Amino acid sequence: METIADNLRKIGLDIGSVCNRTGRDPSTVRLIAVSKTKPAMLVRKAIDAGQVDIGESYVQEFLEKQGSEELSGQPVRWHFIGHLQSNKVKDIVGRVTLIHGIDKHGTVRELSKRALRRNITADYLIEVNTSGEPTKFGLVPDELTMQAPRFFELPHIRLRGLMTIASPDRKKARHEFRMLANLLDRLRKIAPEPEQLTELSMGMSQDYDIAIEEGATMIRIGTAIFGARNRKMP
Ligand SMILES: *Cc1c(COP(=O)(O)O)cnc(C)c1O
Repeated sequence: METIADNLRKIGLDIGSVCNRTGRDPSTVRLIAVSKTKPAMLVRKAIDAGQVDIGESYVQEFLEKQGSEELSGQPVRWHFIGHLQSNKVKDIVGRVTLIHGIDKHGTVRELSKRALRRNITADYLIEVNTSGEPTKFGLVPDELTMQAPRFFELPHIRLRGLMTIASPDRKKARHEFRMLANLLDRLRKIAPEPEQLTELSMGMSQDYDIAIEEGATMIRIGTAIFGARNRKMP
């Protein structure tokens, strides 16, 4: 059986070869190891193998893992990649490096309020529904371009880029990743501080190679590192 360290090494090599063939610098692609449903002990194995960025999807599970004996005090950059509801913002603000899954102005307002109260700046991405699948979270592209100006007005938060979950079909996925990259370009044109808008969080175990080709700066990989999940995911 392959170990977590083997899997991380293999993905690292893969990132290198995709970057090589597309003329990208591998240091511009950040690997986020997605550990939802997996025990803290396995996350620790990834960290011991040199992994720094860890992604979690559920608030309660994230808090438990962050505070666990195996992981507290470890050099981890935590990413919240699940869909974040407004009433959960207070639980994670100040505890994560980046929030990927926000798709409502109300949630951003709450994030701004909570960050202000703690006197920190919170970084976040807006989730975009690029596939148009009704079961997926995220603003659709037209909503994003219409609503974006309101996102720029709030204090103590920083919009850093966009996130999407693509269709299972690889052809469609490429089109959706390209759409996200184009949307980020458009946002930069209207943003007061476009130099902050640098991140494209896209690509998972099945399609990260395509995502890197289309400009991903963060790929979120679970299964290819930690193995299949038993629990059914929403
Ligand atoms: C679970 C999850 C991933 C990782 O998916 P894999 O297919 O296991 O690599 C990435 N992004 C989000 C938002 C997820 O919920």
